Amino acid sequence: VIEIGQPERSVVTTCAYCGVGCTFKAEMRGEELVRMVPYKDGKANRGHSCVKGRFAWGYATHRERILKPMVRERITDPWREVSWDEAIGHVAREFRRIQAKYGRTAIGGITSSRCTNEETFLVQKLIRAGFGNNNVDTCARVCHSPTGYGLKTAFGTSAGTQDFDSVEQSDVVMVIGANPTDGHPVFGSRLKKRLRQGAKLIVVDPRRIDLVRTPHVAAAHHLPLRPGTNVAVLTALAHVVVTEGLVDEAFVRARCDMESFGAWAEFVADPANSPEAVAQYTGVDPDEIRKAARLYATGGNAAIYYGLGVTEHSQGSTTVMAIANLAMATGNLGRPGVGVNPLRGQNNVQGACDMGSFPHELPGYRHVADDATRQMFEELWGVELDHEPGLRIPNMLDAAVGGSFKGLYVQGEDILQSDPNTAHVAAGLAAMECVVIQDLFLNETANYAHVFLPGSTFLEKDGTFTNAERRIQRVRKVMSSRSGKADWEITLDIAHAMGFRMDYSHPSEIMDEIARVTPTFAGVSYDRLDALGSIQWPCNDKAPQGTPVMHVDGFVRGQGRFMITEYVPTDEKTGPRFPLLLTTGRILSQYNVGAQTRRTENVRWHEEDLLEIHPHDAEERGIRDGDLVKLQSRAGATALKALITDRVAPGVVYTTFHHPMTQANVVTTDYSDWATNCPEYKVTAVQVSPSNGP
Ligand code: SF4
Repeated sequence: VIEIGQPERSVVTTCAYCGVGCTFKAEMRGEELVRMVPYKDGKANRGHSCVKGRFAWGYATHRERILKPMVRERITDPWREVSWDEAIGHVAREFRRIQAKYGRTAIGGITSSRCTNEETFLVQKLIRAGFGNNNVDTCARVCHSPTGYGLKTAFGTSAGTQDFDSVEQSDVVMVIGANPTDGHPVFGSRLKKRLRQGAKLIVVDPRRIDLVRTPHVAAAHHLPLRPGTNVAVLTALAHVVVTEGLVDEAFVRARCDMESFGAWAEFVADPANSPEAVAQYTGVDPDEIRKAARLYATGGNAAIYYGLGVTEHSQGSTTVMAIANLAMATGNLGRPGVGVNPLRGQNNVQGACDMGSFPHELPGYRHVADDATRQMFEELWGVELDHEPGLRIPNMLDAAVGGSFKGLYVQGEDILQSDPNTAHVAAGLAAMECVVIQDLFLNETANYAHVFLPGSTFLEKDGTFTNAERRIQRVRKVMSSRSGKADWEITLDIAHAMGFRMDYSHPSEIMDEIARVTPTFAGVSYDRLDALGSIQWPCNDKAPQGTPVMHVDGFVRGQGRFMITEYVPTDEKTGPRFPLLLTTGRILSQYNVGAQTRRTENVRWHEEDLLEIHPHDAEERGIRDGDLVKLQSRAGATALKALITDRVAPGVVYTTFHHPMTQANVVTTDYSDWATNCPEYKVTAVQVSPSNGP
């Protein structure tokens, strides 16, 4: 029996796990968090929650949290606890020394989509204005940058089109490369409810995900495609729409660029893009593609929801554009029940992108080469800004190995565990002279760090997160900071120590600046957030209450633009040595690399990552359920236990990446999306064999 004391006060705040953005009442007794109660007025969750937001907050007071700043000269030295002043002074001196010796662009930083909008805004401001370059990147690029690129190209804005309520008016729902039951559970439940009410389901996924197997939900069509062939399947769906006369011509004529439509229609109608032609390499039954296309085009309000199974490919941006093409051609945009809806993985992926975390874009998705935008920021910040795009994370690592990049400030990200090709990440970090990690725990990347700055949890700070439906919500301080500083204060101190002033006394003042410089945030302030509960951007003079559904009267870019989406197979090939394809995903109780959930009671539900393998492939290799197996790719090898299941098709294996001992990214490749460098995590050629370890 667990005794739970009576709370004395409660604070409404926002979950810091996934992009659904559930709100909770944190019930407190003194400084002790008693329980998290799903907030019934929460617009994203309406009183619901999942096991992560409700129970997985114990990491905030976990004994392994680092609460004192630490410094060491070499990465082989032991850590030395120091005062905040000494740590910040050390960072500033080292970064200035490196810039004096190697040049202005020899340092950079990484923002986190786990942190608040205000913290992210400050990190990119420090780098652009304080460091004097654009070497800023974000973990949001590693998951959803193709969404930003693809949707901006097609519609003119880098965000999903709907609110979550919209699903309640959908007649057909297509889920592509997402597993909402595990990845976005509260939205997943809402989706299932709509399906039980009679909406039809199309699932495009290599695995028989939970939605396909849910009782009382008839998965109208499951298209179990071979990993890496999304573009071919989506173009084949479009082929059916065009060749069978299912285009919504009135919508296309009124809303879209007809020249681009004509070229696209001619391209998709080519017999090489027919369901029958692509079947040989996608592995999908042509009849199922035809039926799914007819259902999507004629079944009423049809919505598409997608996840990292779309974006984390060498053709991630092409796939997003193929989804946009399909929605425009069938008129499924601009009203409730339809739309193109990226399910963002982390709590603030949308916000991290909005805040200018990319090396080529200032806040509000404006290019650094745009003179008028740069001039506005220069006048406000009192510095001259670089007009050249900076380095993305893989380019920073390449430059470090090459000797021209020497200092890195990482806020809230564990790139050694989460980025592809672990060996290359380690080589890049090892070649740097000052790596600064700001985090809760000594993560894997901290093994290569010279300075560790203790970060704070979402329970210890004020700010905002922006969820997958563009909803900006307040994060409220629930308990005192355990390390003495919130993350935004650390960034502020580094800026001051480096000689660049940024004067804010509270995160609300940072939001006021964001609203001043970002047109889609123009009407956002803490007072308005408190009054309205939350606000979906764009929020400005034209939309003072925010915007639940976008592109209602016209696309942000004017006319919707169709793009040619030619299927180009990934360079990652199977062959005799590596005959299987590995794809990866998440499980309900755990979150990403597990730094938080592994330090809560939730770990009991998932003590290790398993390798799902089809019974035929297991039998061929003499593998029994629960055997330790060796997972080998061209990049490396790891070991984990086998789970024999027909959830995966023959030729496909699948694992999660929540535990550091699994080291899933030891085996993933260096390939990435052609437009954004988003890593191709979802396709790795592997061999699996019985093993006692790698
Ligand atoms: Fe909601 Fe996602 Fe948090 Fe679960 S993890 S409570 S679905 S925001």
